[in-house]
Amino acid sequence: MLTTMSTSPDSPAHIGIVGAGQLARMTLQAAIPLGLRLRLLAERPDDGAALIAPDVLLGLPNDPEALLDFARGCEVVTFDHELVPPPCLDALIAAGTCLRPSAATMRLAQDKSAQRRVFAELGLPVPPFQVLSRESDLAEVIKSLGSPLVLKAARGGYDGRGVWIVDGADNLRARFKELTASGIELIAERWVRIERELAILIARRPGGQTAVYPLVETVQVEGICREVILPAPVSPGLAAEAEEIARTIAEASDVVGILAVELFLAGGRLIVNEIATRPHNSGHYSIEGCVTSQFEQHLRAILDWPLGATAPTAPAVVTVNILGGPTGGDPFAALPCALGLEGTHVHLYGKGARPGRKLGHVTVCASGVEQARRQARKAAELLSGAPIPGEVAT
Ligand code: ADP
Repeated sequence: MLTTMSTSPDSPAHIGIVGAGQLARMTLQAAIPLGLRLRLLAERPDDGAALIAPDVLLGLPNDPEALLDFARGCEVVTFDHELVPPPCLDALIAAGTCLRPSAATMRLAQDKSAQRRVFAELGLPVPPFQVLSRESDLAEVIKSLGSPLVLKAARGGYDGRGVWIVDGADNLRARFKELTASGIELIAERWVRIERELAILIARRPGGQTAVYPLVETVQVEGICREVILPAPVSPGLAAEAEEIARTIAEASDVVGILAVELFLAGGRLIVNEIATRPHNSGHYSIEGCVTSQFEQHLRAILDWPLGATAPTAPAVVTVNILGGPTGGDPFAALPCALGLEGTHVHLYGKGARPGRKLGHVTVCASGVEQARRQARKAAELLSGAPIPGEVAT
């Protein structure tokens, strides 16, 4: 069943976004000065972007009828998540919808197993991995990948849900049985001793023009991104290598829009972890921290318009995510206090507060990383009502 919430149902939508979470919400914000009209397909009326968008259809991303109704009249359809099943993407294409990124690119973004295979074929550094389909594979997997090893759901994981570190043959067998019984397709990969996690964004137009953002460090705690730090504390040589990896993947995946590449630094070398073919948490810093935000850039790229400059606006930019605190308090209550801290840019996503849920972020631009990080963490602590893990070096 499709319900329209549109205040102007007859007006043509220029761009459709499947999904109405915080990425769609921040894309809407970027669309305003460009005079663009956006239509959203939201699962629920209280999704973060559905709360503020004038043109919202309610429907599930795996409902072909909802998708087709939604896409009718959109010049371009793009995505705020990876949840549209391939047959639905094909149905949209068959109906003449312009998907950006394309169905083939979305398939790659949805499948960690395909990503590992394609990146390895491109000669890019990936952790040694194996697709796990039978229990009889397990002994061989421990032999070739060692222990502990990492099990990953090939599809549907996010924020560390869908990643399990498993130690020893017995635990591996038990986990494998439990996960495959619930229908999860698994890959196993070598556990990497990670020194830092890094990310880089690149935007690409249909004709191949690209714009690369600077490399950032992402601080992850239990699989969830907590902080994003610009510049990444690595050598110019590694930063250049990361840029080359991003260009290679952008070209090979034929992405249109923003591509985020997540990387590990291990043993002084880069390893590709995974990609997202949409604006990404590691790029929220670009709203205040770069000449063109990732959200505006995504819109420019999918409309095949000239890409904007990606230079940083300050020597240091730090974003700290606001996660729901243990008591589930609403960050809104602490907003005046957080805004009282100089230089803090607060973004709240309008989501209901739940422990551990990403509710917003704070960005601070400054002359040095330490200063930016301290101030952003202070504000995020006030807003989430809980300490941010880790310490800033003194
Ligand atoms: P998600 O799609 O849920 O973000 P990721 O593949 O990015 O999943 O994994 C989440 C986190 O788990 C990573 O940020 C990293 O900290 C850790 N991780 C993932 N793969 C490995 C690995 N092979 N070795 C060690 N840690 C890993």
